[in-house]
Amino acid sequence: MRAQNLLLVTLREPPAEAEILSHQWLVRGGFIRRVASGIYAYMPLMWRVLRKVEAIIREEMDATGALELRLPALQPAELWRRSGRWDTYTDGEGIMFNLTDRQGRQLGLGPTHEEVITSLAAELIRSYRQLPVSLYQLQTKFRDEIRPRFGLMRGREFIMKDAYSFHADEEDLRRYYDCMDQAYRRIFARCGLKVLAVQADSGAIGGAASQEFMAIADAGEDLVLSSRDGRYAANQERAQSLPPPSAPLKVTADECFATPGQATIEAVCAAHHLDPTQTVKVLLHRACFADGPDQPVLTVLRGDQEVNTVKLTNTLGHLLAERGTVLALERLEVDTLQDHGAQLPVGFLGPDLSDDAIQGVPGFVGGFLRIVDSTAADLAGFVCGANVPDRHRRVPGWSALKLSFTRADVRSAQPGDRCCHDPKAVLTATRGIEVGHIFQLGRKYSSALAACFNSESGATEPMWMGCYGIGVSRLAQAAVEQNHDDNGMIWPVSIAPFEVVVTVANGEEQEQCRLAEQLYGELRAAGVDVLLDDRMERAGVKFKDADLLGIPWRVVVGRNAARGHVELKTRSAKDVLDMDASQLLPHLIPQLQRQRRGGWPETGV
Ligand code: ATP
Ligand code: MG
Repeated sequence: MRAQNLLLVTLREPPAEAEILSHQWLVRGGFIRRVASGIYAYMPLMWRVLRKVEAIIREEMDATGALELRLPALQPAELWRRSGRWDTYTDGEGIMFNLTDRQGRQLGLGPTHEEVITSLAAELIRSYRQLPVSLYQLQTKFRDEIRPRFGLMRGREFIMKDAYSFHADEEDLRRYYDCMDQAYRRIFARCGLKVLAVQADSGAIGGAASQEFMAIADAGEDLVLSSRDGRYAANQERAQSLPPPSAPLKVTADECFATPGQATIEAVCAAHHLDPTQTVKVLLHRACFADGPDQPVLTVLRGDQEVNTVKLTNTLGHLLAERGTVLALERLEVDTLQDHGAQLPVGFLGPDLSDDAIQGVPGFVGGFLRIVDSTAADLAGFVCGANVPDRHRRVPGWSALKLSFTRADVRSAQPGDRCCHDPKAVLTATRGIEVGHIFQLGRKYSSALAACFNSESGATEPMWMGCYGIGVSRLAQAAVEQNHDDNGMIWPVSIAPFEVVVTVANGEEQEQCRLAEQLYGELRAAGVDVLLDDRMERAGVKFKDADLLGIPWRVVVGRNAARGHVELKTRSAKDVLDMDASQLLPHLIPQLQRQRRGGWPETGV
């Protein structure tokens, strides 16, 4: 390819909307163009990258025995109703774009494909002899994200590889899940990404075990907690840890005391020489369900702890399973409550806040569901709000409150906490970009969509399922987020838009042009992905563009062309090798062959 024909439009300044560096570099290098919020055109350079990422994914998926297919993006509502996800995915903050066709039938644009694939499996698979089966596709997904941002990282239209596997029993599902885990590790390593596999929340998809693959980057939206011994890593949404021990507090009598204006844990602790671990705090939420009334929730945590809304949502989903999926969990705003006549002594709430406090608030039926986090439940005596303004209460134990609470783990593990597997190990925090996610779905979708088979013993059973996603477009941008410098991108050879750029320093010098053309031809003949920059631009402009585009190897045909010499350098290292042009291919090709399996030119040439 010649740079002349590349429609190369590079920008000097980062675009205003690009908050993170990878987004800036991709736009400045002309790899992507924004069409609308969260919707991007992949320009030819980006498309080359994406095709290489896809090729790596295909090779590794095929190696697991998975079969490629392509499912429709447009999907009938009926299928999603059968799995019970239509309302969850379209109502409220639902992310599924949906529409009604000319016959008045409802359709959605696929954010994911469990429903479609499971219904096909139900039609096609009859016997255990056809199992296991694994099917995958590389396809556009649509999600009406609440906050599309960071370019391809969180798009509303993006490319995903999704795979679904079907098994006769759980053991076989586990075997294949491990096999996919290994395939994922190879894919990310081959794409040049530094990735950490972490335990994950299964979210709205549901199911048992799930693991995310996090590309380590400060710009990542996820927080990963891990132990240095490498034995534990989890998304904070799901992480567990040992909380710091609480300072003992002896409470002999149940009594109230004055705390004028002391509406925060800090203020109460400072005024009364208490430690936050000797107090409890109360949070109020409204949980909205797919098939039932809203539920007021009162959550109690130890004063030094933070609530984990993902854990709380999961807990509510289990406790009130008959109301279907939790659509939303909102903090109850005191203003709203007071507008409805609720009497709330904010800053002085206690775990035994009366249900009367929320009478008259629309949408609620009945009183609070009271949940107490284990950190608070384990306290013998504690201090809490007295449900009266400017007063707190010393409580000698939970029985003194004469109410029943459901005990659950709803706290957020924090960096610095001790690990459950080894109390001497401590959790540290790292930010990550979720580039992949694998799930053991179990039989949730196969049961809902009647995807059953005849087992060896003759019984009819729902199939065991796994599903496995990779954010292809997100992964490509994550590679830039991990690999750039002040001058632009630094692509790993395996997914670079071009492996080598041959730059003619001075396009008016006949000898330089001739030698560059010759090398360009030889490199192409040797199967190298090479770009020839023969534009009539100043050398400085071409070098700057080459840095910006991040092509891993650069051959400069300059002044020394007259004596048959060229310069070879890598994108990331400063040193330059001056060599006879005839040596270029024998020197370069073996290195490229190695690096195509993953990685960069070693520093230096
Ligand atoms: P997130 O938590 O980031 O919203 P998710 O958990 O909803 O992602 P999955 O349903 O697990 O995403 O989808 C599989 C993969 O698709 C993710 O691991 C991620 O790499 C990618 N992905 C998900 N949403 C987007 C998006 N809006 N833009 C680009 N890639 C995405
Ligand atoms: Mg996920």
